[in-house]
Amino acid sequence: MSIAGKHFAIIGAGIVGSALALWLSGQGAVVSIYERRRAQAFLKRPTIQKRNINLALSHRGLKSLNLLGLKDKIMPLCCPMFGRRIYPSADKAPFFQPYGLPHQAIYSVSRFDLNQMLHSALDKAKSIEMHYNNTLNTEENDLLEKLEAEFDGIFWCDGIHSSGRTLLERLGHVNTTVDRANYGYREVPLRGPVIKSKEAQALHIWPRDKSMLIALPQADGYYAGTLFAPFEGAGGLDSTTTQGDFQHSIQSTYLGKDSSFSLTDTPLANLPASWLKSVAVGPWNYGKHLLLGDAAHAILPFYGQGMNAGLEDVYVLSEIAADNKSPDEIFSAFYSRRKIDADAIKTLAERNYWNMKNGTVNDEQLLYKRFEQFLLTHFPNEFEGQYQRISFGDEPYHKALSNGDIIFAQCQAFLKDFDRPEDWSVPEAMAACKSLLSSFHAD
Ligand SMILES: Cc1cc2nc3c(=O)[nH]c(=O)nc-3n(C[C@H](O)[C@H](O)[C@H](O)COP(=O)(O)OP(=O)(O)OC[C@H]3O[C@@H](n4cnc5c(N)ncnc54)[C@H](O)[C@@H]3O)c2cc1C
Repeated sequence: MSIAGKHFAIIGAGIVGSALALWLSGQGAVVSIYERRRAQAFLKRPTIQKRNINLALSHRGLKSLNLLGLKDKIMPLCCPMFGRRIYPSADKAPFFQPYGLPHQAIYSVSRFDLNQMLHSALDKAKSIEMHYNNTLNTEENDLLEKLEAEFDGIFWCDGIHSSGRTLLERLGHVNTTVDRANYGYREVPLRGPVIKSKEAQALHIWPRDKSMLIALPQADGYYAGTLFAPFEGAGGLDSTTTQGDFQHSIQSTYLGKDSSFSLTDTPLANLPASWLKSVAVGPWNYGKHLLLGDAAHAILPFYGQGMNAGLEDVYVLSEIAADNKSPDEIFSAFYSRRKIDADAIKTLAERNYWNMKNGTVNDEQLLYKRFEQFLLTHFPNEFEGQYQRISFGDEPYHKALSNGDIIFAQCQAFLKDFDRPEDWSVPEAMAACKSLLSSFHAD
């Protein structure tokens, strides 16, 4: 598509809408952004931030930020996480489970820092017109036509509750399925050890069968914790309604009395519990309109990929646009290529809740993770498991899903024959590993 000189509208200046605007402007387009919130929400550091304070940024998101020339700006603001630090129970010692090779990490970044960086860049970019504090009235049925008359393309980047998607659905142009999980989450701001050792540079997990607490490191000994739990029942999100109940539940069920972590005194009223949802939509395009980011594919947060997938949308769009087609051709090619990947990462995110909440203390899964480390250490150029494929590579998500499943099944077969780690280095086992790796051909 010849983007230069075209005029695009973007609705929603979250992480995805902002990144898209910067890319379009870099291609010589004129961009008008309509954002519901005020500029201060993105530029002025809040004294209390209420929602998903920190996010895990990984290779796919970084690749897109690099395309925009912003990777080097965000990296100094990130805390690396080289693996999971798991706290199985009060009477068992915590342990570290690496994510990949020793240099491989995902990065804890504050949503505010990321937004601030993007909005400062928007402010400086050429040909971007910001309309903050501006919500389009999607109750008007002729809104689509009005936008089409004014713009060459309209991108709906307005998040999980996208009003553009709702309008397109009301007019019969797209179908949406919203899945609400039977549990939710609550932010749990924590104080914890100042990060020094590599093992503290981790995503901390307190798995408790039906629920889990996780914490991402921030600067200066603070951690962005999140409790994932059902709403009902003892310790559920509904039962901890007073500050005292909440503190007692976090301390007794997760942290334990000797923990180096403690709750900050943030009032419970500032930490509302929310349901978790995922959204599947089809198609994402209608004429000049395209849904992008969470508006098109909101997923559960357990693979740390929602934002990364949204940022990768921008990268994929840049590749498709290079073929010089009209906006509606590009949008339809984008949907054809990308939908299968959105569905794959949705599946993986759903599966990963069990992996984090139960798999981190499940003997079979722990043995598998240990074997994965063995293969990574001895065959760093030949082996890549599912996690590494998703978080450290850019193989399309659907291939990472299928290739990761194949390699997982092959490893399980190996572990049936060699279920003791001390046997993995014997020549027979090493030969079996080599044959396992050589028989695997990624498609
Ligand atoms: C608990 C939790 C943890 C998460 N952790 C991670 C993680 O570790 N890693 C990861 O990659 N992802 C994570 N995610 C997912 C990530 O937050 C989202 O995928 C990402 O924010 C999507 O970006 P977006 O720009 O598409 O939407 P949003 O960030 O929701 O931005 C949408 C923007 O549109 C604006 N808007 C909405 N409606 C309108 C309207 N009608 N008119 C104008 N503007 C409008 C909003 O104000 C907002 O600025 C997590 C999500 C949750 C819930």
